[in-house]
Amino acid sequence: MPFSSDESKRYSRHFVLPAIGPFGQSKLQNASVLVIGAGGLGSSAIMYLAAAGVGRIGIADYDLVDESNLNRQVIHSEVGLNKAVSAANFVQKLNPHVQAISIEKRLTAENISSELEGYDFVLDCTDRFETKFLVNDACVLLRKPYCHGGASGCEGQIMTYLPDFPCLRCLMGEIPQDAPTCAEIGVLGSTVGLIGCMQATEAIKFIVGSGSLLVGRLIKYDGLEARFQTLNFGRDENCPVCGEHRRITTLDKENYKIKCDF
Ligand SMILES: [Zn+2]
Repeated sequence: MPFSSDESKRYSRHFVLPAIGPFGQSKLQNASVLVIGAGGLGSSAIMYLAAAGVGRIGIADYDLVDESNLNRQVIHSEVGLNKAVSAANFVQKLNPHVQAISIEKRLTAENISSELEGYDFVLDCTDRFETKFLVNDACVLLRKPYCHGGASGCEGQIMTYLPDFPCLRCLMGEIPQDAPTCAEIGVLGSTVGLIGCMQATEAIKFIVGSGSLLVGRLIKYDGLEARFQTLNFGRDENCPVCGEHRRITTLDKENYKIKCDF
């Protein structure tokens, strides 16, 4: 605060919303979110974060827009452009009051910690388990709140991590081997978009301090059957990254090797 007259008009529906209000809107304005992956999940998450007025949005993606992305990665329209740049361009057109920062690199065990610094909240919008576990482990080690999202086929899932609460490895343990990729089994764009919207909602709730976060809860969504399922889970004392006798205390690139790329 204070808001310009343009901002006051733009955010007027937030101002009257008890969950946000002018004070919540100023929190959004001063907040920063890092979105890792500007694909299907990232597309809808980034659009709604930007429209909501999140002041600084980091967008990390090394990949280029391909024609086969366009059925679900709705933030992109120019084939061949880097996805982080393409998404940042979209954000600046959608809402000139927020700042979009494109990070044109693959986040790895070596560089992820420095990229996470300075952000209040992180969205894992990646599409490979190796990267998802890397994001989880980095956030746990740095005590950085984040929201995990995933989608394939016509299904998706989402959960949120806060320091001292259950993490992705409490639920899944080790990186699943030979999990099929979206290129192999296909993906329905609207399903991915819905999970991305829910991730943006988690980030907004975290920033303004309203509602209940998906902490210790995994929501599974089945788009074909139109069913949501909630799985409650607690911290696993044998969790390799947050348990009593944790074996992961630093990030080692050997643990997060991506086996196939395309
Ligand atoms: Zn854990």
